[in-house]
Formats: sequence, structure tokens, C-alpha cells
Amino acid sequence: MGETLESAGIRHRVVVTGGASGIGLATAKRFLDDGARVVAIDIDSEALERARDDLPGLDGVPADVSDAAQVEAAFAEVDRLMGGVDVLVANAGISVRRRFLDIEPAQWARVIGVNLTGAFLCAQAAIRRMAAQGSGVVLFTSSTNGLDGHPLYADYNASKAGINLLMKTIALEHAPWLRSNAVCPGYVLTPMQQSEYTPEMLEAVNRQIPMGRHARPDEIAALFAFLASDEAAYITGQCISIDGGETA
Ligand code: NAP
Repeated sequence: MGETLESAGIRHRVVVTGGASGIGLATAKRFLDDGARVVAIDIDSEALERARDDLPGLDGVPADVSDAAQVEAAFAEVDRLMGGVDVLVANAGISVRRRFLDIEPAQWARVIGVNLTGAFLCAQAAIRRMAAQGSGVVLFTSSTNGLDGHPLYADYNASKAGINLLMKTIALEHAPWLRSNAVCPGYVLTPMQQSEYTPEMLEAVNRQIPMGRHARPDEIAALFAFLASDEAAYITGQCISIDGGETA
């Protein structure tokens, strides 16, 4: 008789987008540590290779989540590698720090395309598969920028606010067999954050945060692990902030 996933000690088949860096990489590591099968989807194939070297057992599929054909091909590869998906962490995202009047239409389209359309495309591909099995968890990396206005990130803020209502609608349409939630981190020390902020800017941010520091990526990963678990069985349709008290 063939070994089932559960008898092999594998609780979940997890897809993490943007899984080659930062929050996504930490989340892929956390689920692997918890005994899941994990496929990371990321546009950066070299970073994916490095992630696979660092995390034994990780599978990587290069794709641009904003491109419908690439997302379809990536999930076909997910089917081949894991036979389906139980948990999606739609995390891939980009940001550009620019004043509203300086945002060009191409930047607007790219930020919305990756952050919001990418989340939509991946959620649709995952939920089609989850519907066939009658269970699933769809989690998003939103941001505290999706809850309140923040200067210099109009396109990014709009994309994250969009994710929050995309998530709520998904949660309402697919309950009770599917749960969906959005994690809203504040400031997290990742390559994205370090590329946009000087050390002085990072220190200034730390002074504004009640906990006195940025979050570590593994702290965000721990929230994803909880939300994917049965302990979160009654949590759906929620935006959950993890921000060191910043928005309090
Ligand atoms: P990160 O270190 O830059 O990691 C993001 C990963 O996603 C990178 O490997 C990136 O590749 C990849 N990616 C970018 N565009 C993609 C696309 N079109 N298709 C597939 N993969 C793509 O960033 P992070 O800080 O971990 O951010 C992860 C998520 O957390 C994002 O959604 C971000 O908005 C959100 N977030 C971050 C913070 C923070 O303070 N860091 C706070 C709140 C929310 P490239 O490196 O080639 O772009």
C-alpha cells in the first residue's frame, strides 16, 4: 500500500510566493521545519537556487506571479511536485518609495500587477485545486500600509488595501471549507527594507516602534504557521497586524 502524505509525517503541501528571500524564505523554512512539503515560487531564479541549497527539501519554481500564463505553468509544476496544494502563502511583493505625483503609470501598473494581480492569480490557481479536495488555507502578506495611509507609497498602499478586501471576499465565498487571512506586518528587516532605507532611516524607524526594533522575518513566518494550523480553525476573513505595537 502506498505511503500517504500524513503517514510520511507531512501535514501540508505549501506554496510560498516570493519564497526565495526575506519573509517568504523564512516562511518556507518554517513550514519545512514543521514537516510540510514546500514549493517556493519566485521571479529570481538565482535566489531560488541559493534558497534550495540552504533549505534541504525545498522545491523552487521560477515564475513572475503577475503573468497569468506563468502562474498557470508554475501551479502545473506544483501539481507534478506535490500532487496539489493545501496552503498558499501569497507573499511576493515589490515596493518603490516615491511621491504620489512622481509615480509613472508603468510603476503603478507593475506594483499593482505584482502585489495585487499576482495575489489574485495565485489565489485563483490554488483555490481551484483546493475546491476539488474540499479544503485549504489561503494566506496573504499584506501590510500595515494596507490599513492606514503612509506617504510615499500610494501604489503599494493601494495594492495592500486591495489584498485585504480580496482576502475577505475569498473568505466569505469559500467558508466553511476554506479559510483565508491576511498578515499585516509593520517594518520587517528584509532585503526589501534594507534596499530602501539607509542605516540612519532604519534607526529612526526603530525609535518609532514600541518594541524598539524591526520584526525578524521568522516572527512573521511563525504567524503564518499558526494561521495555517488547526489551532486557527475559527480565524478567517481577518487582517492580522504584526507590527511591534506601531499601529496601537
Ligand atoms: P524581499 O526580501 O524583496 O522578497 C520578495 C521576493 O519576492 C524576492 O525574492 C523578489 O524577487 C520576489 N518577487 C518580486 N516580484 C516578484 C514577482 N513578480 N513574481 C514572483 N516573485 C517576485 O521582500 P520582503 O520584505 O520579504 O517582502 C515580502 C512581502 O512582505 C511583500 O509582499 C512585501 O510587500 C511584504 N511586506 C514587507 C515588509 C517589510 O518591512 N519588509 C512589511 C510589510 C509587508 P526580486 O528580489 O527579484 O524582486
